[in-house]
Amino acid sequence: MVCALDAMAIAPATKGILLAAFLAACSALAVATGLTRVAPRHVVAPEAWAALERHDADQAASLFRLELQQRPRDPMLHFGAASAAHARGQSSFALSSLKKAVEIDPEFVEALTMLGQVAYESGNGDLAIRSLEKASALRPRDRRVAELLDRWRRESSVHNSYLEKPAGHFRILYEGSAQQAIGDRVASVLESGYTTIGRTLNSYPSETVTVILYTNREFQDITRSPSWATGGYDGRIRLAVGGTVRPSDLDRVVTHELVHAIVASAAPRRVPAWLNEGLATYLESSDRAWVSGVIHRASRVIPLDELTKGFSGLDEQGALVAYAESAVAAEILCAKLGANVGPFLKMVGSGSSVDEALLAFQVQPNAFHSEWGRRVGIR
Ligand SMILES: [Zn+2]
Repeated sequence: MVCALDAMAIAPATKGILLAAFLAACSALAVATGLTRVAPRHVVAPEAWAALERHDADQAASLFRLELQQRPRDPMLHFGAASAAHARGQSSFALSSLKKAVEIDPEFVEALTMLGQVAYESGNGDLAIRSLEKASALRPRDRRVAELLDRWRRESSVHNSYLEKPAGHFRILYEGSAQQAIGDRVASVLESGYTTIGRTLNSYPSETVTVILYTNREFQDITRSPSWATGGYDGRIRLAVGGTVRPSDLDRVVTHELVHAIVASAAPRRVPAWLNEGLATYLESSDRAWVSGVIHRASRVIPLDELTKGFSGLDEQGALVAYAESAVAAEILCAKLGANVGPFLKMVGSGSSVDEALLAFQVQPNAFHSEWGRRVGIR
């Protein structure tokens, strides 16, 4: 069994930065909605910020767009538009809005940090580092910014020493000629998975996906993953390929991370970890004999409600149970939804609950939950 983890586990520091940017928006919202006693002076579009606050990114985007027609030089509005676009998974639009915000106000630290984050997520490490350097210079005491900048610089220096292999829809980075054969194998697994998994999930990544092959130590150092993880996806597919990796295990983990990349293209936000990991685990290989064995030996059933945020806090045994239970859930969903798995995912990514999205495709949530409970041993 090759384990992997979701983006939440990989980048806790970057989440903090984004949160800071979002809180800046929320503090503007607080002023605008009278939650503080500070008289609002230049906060505009309070309804748009309120829509962001209640996670209605579509409404927020439309309100920011309207307001920007009146005030095209307001950096806060561009920042708001970027936040809404980011929440909707529209990285390119978020990037261009943030660039406008910092062009108008070069000392807008929250926009600079968010620009760094979105650029990093989009694979533009140079822009990410440049933006964070400016933010750090403006706010030198912000430790989170300093730590993230340090981490990105170290990562960049590692990657700069790597070879790059363009391969169809992917760009593969690896350490040197010793990894050439592994790089070729990874490229071939990715390309065939792009077609088969893309068809299953009815979704294909619109942009080139960066895939980085690390030695085991570099993988742990750069991703700060739990020790049981050998792959991860955080906008880039990262794989530990050091030591003796069996080809079948390599194929499995490559496919697993590719599923995460494709799920992210269909539904960039709001997919519960059990659904994301379940699909990746179910689709990574047709050899799933281990799943029933793990469930049979598990000392307790972990409810899906406890598996919405990611598995990185679990120990190795707990993680194994979490992956197995999630795979069972994904298998049932794939069987019940058939060709509608992709549209179902998109609905969940747009804010519907799993149960609401199931109902939209004529699947009774109770039928799903009771079959899952029976299969994982709930009596
Ligand atoms: Zn995973």
